[in-house]
Amino acid sequence: MTIDNYNFANKKAIVRVDFNVPLDENGHITDDTRIRGALPTLKKILADGGSLIIMSHMGKPKGKVNPKFSLSQIKDDVAKALGTDVIFAPDCANAKEAAANLKPGQVLLLENLRFYPEEEGKPVGIEKEDPAYEAAKKEMKERQKEFAKTLASYADVYVNDAFGTAHRKHASTAVIADYFDKDNKMLGYLMEKEVQAVDNILSNIQRPFTAIMGGSKVSTKIGIIENLMDKVDNLILCGGMTYTFAKAMGGKIGDSICEDDKLDLAREIMAKAKAKGVNLVLGTDCVAGNAFSNDAETMICPSNDIPDGWEGMDAGPETRKAFAEVIEPAKTILWNGPAGVFEFDNFTAGSRAIAEAIVKATEKGAFSLVGGGDSVACVNKFGLADSVSYVSTGGGALLEAIEGKELPGVAAIKK
Ligand code: AMP
Repeated sequence: MTIDNYNFANKKAIVRVDFNVPLDENGHITDDTRIRGALPTLKKILADGGSLIIMSHMGKPKGKVNPKFSLSQIKDDVAKALGTDVIFAPDCANAKEAAANLKPGQVLLLENLRFYPEEEGKPVGIEKEDPAYEAAKKEMKERQKEFAKTLASYADVYVNDAFGTAHRKHASTAVIADYFDKDNKMLGYLMEKEVQAVDNILSNIQRPFTAIMGGSKVSTKIGIIENLMDKVDNLILCGGMTYTFAKAMGGKIGDSICEDDKLDLAREIMAKAKAKGVNLVLGTDCVAGNAFSNDAETMICPSNDIPDGWEGMDAGPETRKAFAEVIEPAKTILWNGPAGVFEFDNFTAGSRAIAEAIVKATEKGAFSLVGGGDSVACVNKFGLADSVSYVSTGGGALLEAIEGKELPGVAAIKK
């Protein structure tokens, strides 16, 4: 079933959204992107004449009630965004009556799902090493099913529009789908768009395909790098991992960030790229700083010849040019992770060069997907988010999808 094909008239729809929005110390929203992201789905249901039961997590309350993470703080913002009143259910597992009383066009917002440990389904207060852990886990899985069943009992139809948590098998993101038949569960518009964007990258590849992986460490990106190796023509590895590679090739990297236990892995990646005919592009020069600070003194030096007391903090001019040369002619582009310590304004040039090259390629017809928290922050910082094809809202979910893993949140709808 798809959301466009479903008529929600007189139906109660329970919708999992990602309203895990950042709040300031007074509980005011500082960035409402996630609320805006869910609006097309929520508005379609109301416009059809359905009623809405909205559910989400916020923060990490670890299975306990904690007012700091109460969704009551954003009730008025949700009402304003939807242009209608919102009723608040202060206990998500005891909202049967409030749900039953909903009339078409009305909206009920459930309190934070993660106030219940059943949402995540992980046993609390017991370590993995404890001999009783397995039994506790089994018991919690049963409780999770009951919790999901309770949520399901509120509604006629289930919609999942929370891409950010699609890689988790939680009560509200996956288990709940077991209590709806195939014709009464579906992905929301945001999820559909995200899944389509990943599909464009993985199965509808126009060549050349250039992937840019940055960020601080190679270890957190290895799964995706290995998966991409079978698909891309050009693979740029940048950011902090540059120096693990430089050291693996015998270079001198001064005080640069480096994973010394990943030198073999770096050599393996280089060998694999060669064997598969992938053009691996690594930085040859860098902007080094004499301290990890925006005000550090800087100099341009080879990435494999950095003096002690200095660390590589951004891509150098020669490197930026080399990156642009394989990005601009590309027809499919994936970018995850910055090329430098972009949080410091003096070390943004590498990431900016990547973003600008992606924009140029997109203008020439390339499909470009930017995803993962920091690269999204980068394109936002440069004001270029609207100039790439797609900016993903998912961090972990996007990476797992691109690694080729099936997302539980998507799989549960298809069952
Ligand atoms: P990740 O969470 O692995 O995607 O890494 C993102 C972080 O990598 C950002 O906070 C960047 O500041 C950091 N980063 C990028 N390049 C470097 C570098 N050369 N040295 C240290 N940190 C870096």
